[in-house]
Amino acid sequence: MDFNLTEEQRMFADSVEKFAQKEIAPGVEEREEVTGFSIDTWKKMSAFGLNGLCIPVEYGGGGADPITTIIGTQAFARGSGDFSLVVVWLSHLLLAAMPIVDLGTEAQKKKYLPKMASGEWIGAYALTEPEAGTDATGLRTTAKKEGDHYILNGSKTFISNAPIADVFVVFASIDLSLRAGGITIFIVDRNTPGLTTGKPLKKYDGHSAPTGEIFFEDCRVPAENLLGKEGEGFLAMISSLGWERMAFGSSIGIMEWELNQCIAYAKERKQFGKPIAKFQLVQAMLAEMKIDIEAARYLVYNLAWKKHTKTDTALDAAITKTFVTEAANRNSQKAVQIFGGNGCMREYPIGHGLWASKMSMIGGGTSQIQRVIIGRLLTGS
Ligand SMILES: Cc1cc2nc3c(=O)[nH]c(=O)nc-3n(C[C@H](O)[C@H](O)[C@H](O)COP(=O)(O)OP(=O)(O)OC[C@H]3O[C@@H](n4cnc5c(N)ncnc54)[C@H](O)[C@@H]3O)c2cc1C
Repeated sequence: MDFNLTEEQRMFADSVEKFAQKEIAPGVEEREEVTGFSIDTWKKMSAFGLNGLCIPVEYGGGGADPITTIIGTQAFARGSGDFSLVVVWLSHLLLAAMPIVDLGTEAQKKKYLPKMASGEWIGAYALTEPEAGTDATGLRTTAKKEGDHYILNGSKTFISNAPIADVFVVFASIDLSLRAGGITIFIVDRNTPGLTTGKPLKKYDGHSAPTGEIFFEDCRVPAENLLGKEGEGFLAMISSLGWERMAFGSSIGIMEWELNQCIAYAKERKQFGKPIAKFQLVQAMLAEMKIDIEAARYLVYNLAWKKHTKTDTALDAAITKTFVTEAANRNSQKAVQIFGGNGCMREYPIGHGLWASKMSMIGGGTSQIQRVIIGRLLTGS
């Protein structure tokens, strides 16, 4: 296995990082504090080709493979420092668009993917419910077939992009008694009668990544919007996580952004008459950050490689999710520590990584459930 980037991949990473530094980084704090999600910034990403990065070329995307996708998400996070936009982008691309690529009919692909690849339509992935988080099989949203429609009733919560999305990939049950066996996926357009969304939920941070609730009240979804097969949604969810896991590339990018900020700050900030970078205990924190970054990087590349070569990734995905998100959280704690009091002030953006990394330990399956999965796979129980 050769994990060295090719010349082409290096140039791609470089161009994404430069774009993110120039076009995205300067407005991060204004979006976080004042304006919230910016459609103009989104359009810049679309024009650069990021919003359809791994959507196949025939549907208007960039056709990037998993490794190139990882490299792109990493470079974008490292260059922009905009962790909210990373969430909006990857929820749209990896969570909403890629299941349509993997499971959609030709008609669905033609209808949705070009507009999602161009960024004209923003996607959201709606699985979690007030009573069904870690236990996704306990979802209560129902889908009842009536003629050539399904009638959806229920609600979703904590859904990234819900307040701004045009297209929702929704999990509902055709028969609650079957639990996992009843789960079915639908593509639901925002303007479908019976679908409403709530106001953005108030989070501690990540304000320019709107998160919200979705309500379905006798929501009439055309039968042609069934994604995959009835009752196969749970299996599809597990396999679509393969693409969702490519979002870990952005965690590496966030860690690298933090390390770059910390090195610059430590060289600048003086105490006891010299830059704090001269103190070995500060160097130790920088060293530990770098160790975690490199360990996480190769776990992520390994996962992308296995996805690329269609190798079973269940164990690797759980290991990588746990290690990378927890390494990101360790890193962001050290980053704030190195900035001292300034690390606690909004004037300095370094603290954003704390919440971004904590949320990454919860979304997409918590650290605890990943350990449960690893334990089950190891013991066969
Ligand atoms: C910012 C943000 C964005 C999100 N975006 C989306 C999105 O776009 N789409 C979507 O569908 N969802 C989204 N989610 C929801 C996310 O996937 C859930 O929050 C997550 O799966 C955990 O569910 P929960 O919050 O209900 O916690 P719970 O399931 O209530 O868990 C609470 C605690 O109990 C632990 N626990 C639960 N069961 C077990 C067990 N069997 N063994 C050991 N420990 C256990 C958990 O690890 C956790 O520590 C988002 C969440 C956040 C915070």
